[in-house]
Amino acid sequence: MRTVFGLIVLLLLALPVITGCQQPGGSADDGLISSRDEISIQEMAGLLGLRVDETTATHITLKNVSNTVMLFTCSGGKVYVNARPLGEVGMVNRRGGQIYVPRSLVSQIRSAMRTSVRPGVSTRRSSGCVVIDAGHGGKDPGATSCLGFHEKTVNLAVAGKVASLLKQRGVRAVMTRSNDTFIELEGRAAIANRYDADLFVSIHADSAPSSSARGFTMYVARSASWSSLRAASAIAKSMARTGLSSRGTRRADFRVLVHTQGPAVLIELGYLSNSSEARLLRDSSFQNRLAQAIASGISNFLARAVL
Ligand SMILES: [Zn+2]
Repeated sequence: MRTVFGLIVLLLLALPVITGCQQPGGSADDGLISSRDEISIQEMAGLLGLRVDETTATHITLKNVSNTVMLFTCSGGKVYVNARPLGEVGMVNRRGGQIYVPRSLVSQIRSAMRTSVRPGVSTRRSSGCVVIDAGHGGKDPGATSCLGFHEKTVNLAVAGKVASLLKQRGVRAVMTRSNDTFIELEGRAAIANRYDADLFVSIHADSAPSSSARGFTMYVARSASWSSLRAASAIAKSMARTGLSSRGTRRADFRVLVHTQGPAVLIELGYLSNSSEARLLRDSSFQNRLAQAIASGISNFLARAVL
């Protein structure tokens, strides 16, 4: 008796979980759906620029930066796009570890999704490649620090550390230059475009007439995509943990940003015209901390990327 009572309690507790579902025996079983008319959840997510966020016994949640789509997979279960009911999911089939739903849902969900707040977000697939650009090089030294060393040296040191940390994390990282050579700005962007990079990160160090100017700055192009802004935010959040102060994310049409087709950010690591920041930027162990922070920010961006 106690077992039966326990089962009843369990069933009652489970009821709120199946919100969004009708009782079995609804209208979902009308007709057979051929494989041509159905689509796997993974494929549907890819077509809609969503990622599969959660799969439970009762529902599947798909997400991107602007949209949350929930599909209740029980009989008569409904689809919700940003908490608004869209209709019934229809026939749900499970085969070979995959869940299949009617293909017609793709266009219905797409038209209900928000698009106005996601400029630049497309459904293109990830290339798995990040391009790291060490600013300046060769005949172009960049800024000269108040301690006498050149910006191009700091940029290359930090960029190299970021690239090797990313590789350790399994990310394909490509450097625009790995030694003291000069590359045109358009050439740097062209490398990112050739690799169809998921992210282009240009690394620089700042300089100002005032020796008191300090802190790191993130830049994105004026017409930057939502993805570029998210990358800048993820990297800035991580860099703030190094102790450098953040000057926020700014918009400027640097040529490397404008000519890169995918998400692109430019980091000014700190001020070479400020003696304490110049000392830090020259220091190899601080460069390691900076590189760790930038690599973590990039990884966090990639983990949530809807490109
Ligand atoms: Zn520079």
